[in-house]
Amino acid sequence: MNYSFRKKNKTVKYIIIHYTGMKTLKSAYSKLHNIKSNVSAHYLISRSGYIFNLLCPGIQAWHAGKSQWKNDKNLNCNSIGIELENKGHEYGYNFFTNHQYTSLKKLIVFLSRNFYIKDENIIFHSDISPNRKKDPGEKFFIKRIGIERFKKNIQKKNKYTINEMLKIYGFSNYYIKKYNLYCIESVKRALNYKKINSNKNKQFKIDFYNLLF
Ligand SMILES: [Zn+2]
Repeated sequence: MNYSFRKKNKTVKYIIIHYTGMKTLKSAYSKLHNIKSNVSAHYLISRSGYIFNLLCPGIQAWHAGKSQWKNDKNLNCNSIGIELENKGHEYGYNFFTNHQYTSLKKLIVFLSRNFYIKDENIIFHSDISPNRKKDPGEKFFIKRIGIERFKKNIQKKNKYTINEMLKIYGFSNYYIKKYNLYCIESVKRALNYKKINSNKNKQFKIDFYNLLF
């Protein structure tokens, strides 16, 4: 099992939601335990809703990789990683099951209370590494677990540029500049678009605005 100890000044602030992206639960489970894989996660939720607790959340797992979010970098150090069993875009991407949503909701309520994690800090792997990751993807509906990530009491104006909205969404300045089109795709996944591309058309601007405010 891969893990590190959290630095004293890095407490848990985020929950990052993933999919396993592997053909079977067994292969995902093995990979998360294999020291040679260079990955690990704290929890794995099977399609039948069973929660495997793979690592104590106080310990750092290796699930996020190279990542940025707002002013944070390399989010392994201050996050908990939850993997949902799903074959993913490579092997046959499925909708997540009702059992998975029920279990994930319970787990997130438990973790949020214990680690004081705000709704806005429950985020996706595709948010923090938009250039590399698609998970959990457009077939994951965060509303199903009762989380409202946005629509906080921000002073809103009528018109924002797309880049201003990407910043409010949470992308780092560096990623907005370097991976702009990937950031757009990531937002489309969060909006549960059926077709994912980096086209910034009028409808997208409206949907994005309504997501945030
Ligand atoms: Zn992931």
